Amino acid sequence: MRLRNIKGSKEIIEGSPYVISSSNQGLSNQWKSIFPQSAPIYLEIGMGKGKFLVDSAIRNPDINYIGIERYSSVLCRAVQRVEELEPIHNLKFINMDAGELLNTFALGEVDKIYLHFSDPWPKDRHAKRRLNAKEYLTIYDKILKADGELEMKTDNLLLFEFGLEQAKSANWKIIHCNRNLHTQEYLAVNPIMTEYEKKFGSAGNAILQYVIKR
Ligand code: SAH
Repeated sequence: MRLRNIKGSKEIIEGSPYVISSSNQGLSNQWKSIFPQSAPIYLEIGMGKGKFLVDSAIRNPDINYIGIERYSSVLCRAVQRVEELEPIHNLKFINMDAGELLNTFALGEVDKIYLHFSDPWPKDRHAKRRLNAKEYLTIYDKILKADGELEMKTDNLLLFEFGLEQAKSANWKIIHCNRNLHTQEYLAVNPIMTEYEKKFGSAGNAILQYVIKR
C-alpha cells in the first residue's frame, strides 16, 4: 500500500502517543514499560491503515497489539483514525521495516504474528522480500514464544502456496490451512477483518488463511 504523502505526516506520527520511535537504542525488552498492562503481544507486520489492529484492540482489551508499517504516509492514516476514538490503552504502532524486527523485540517476546495481505513480490528474483519467505521465518523464529503462532491471510494463491512451502521446508507445522475462509458460517460470527480482506472478500476473491507454529 502506497499513498500520496500527507503534508505534515512526519509531525503527526512523531506527535502521537500511539507511535513508538524505533530510532534509538532498540526496543527489545522495553515493551513491559511501554504498555500499562502486562499482556500477550500480538504483532501485525505490514498493518496498512490499521483497521484490523484498532478493531482487535477494542474487542480484546487483555492483549497488547503492535503494528509495524514501513510507509509513514500509510501509518499516518492509522494515527488519524485512532486519534478520533476514545483512548486505546493496548495499541502501539511503529514506522519501520520488518527487516529491523530483531532490534525491536527480545527473544520470545511476541505471542502471535499476523501477516495480512502482504505484498506478493511476484517475480522469482524478489522472492526473498516476501514476508513469508524463509529469511523472515528465521527472524520470526527468534522473536516468537516457543508455542507462538503466525497467521497469514491473503487472496494471492502464489504467495499463499509459497508461504506453505517455505514453512514446511523450515520445519514449521501447519496448524490450519483454509482456502476459502469466508464461508457464511465464518461471516456470521462477525469476524474482525483487515481492510484488504473486506475489500477483496466482498469482490468475491477467495480468502486464503494458514496458521503455522514451530
Ligand atoms: N494488513 C493490511 C495492509 C495490507 S497491504 C490489510 O490487510 O489491509 C501491505 C502493507 O504492508 C503495506 O501497507 C506495505 O507498506 C506494508 N509492508 C510491506 N512490506 C513491509 C515491510 N517489509 N515492513 C513493513 N511494512 C511492510
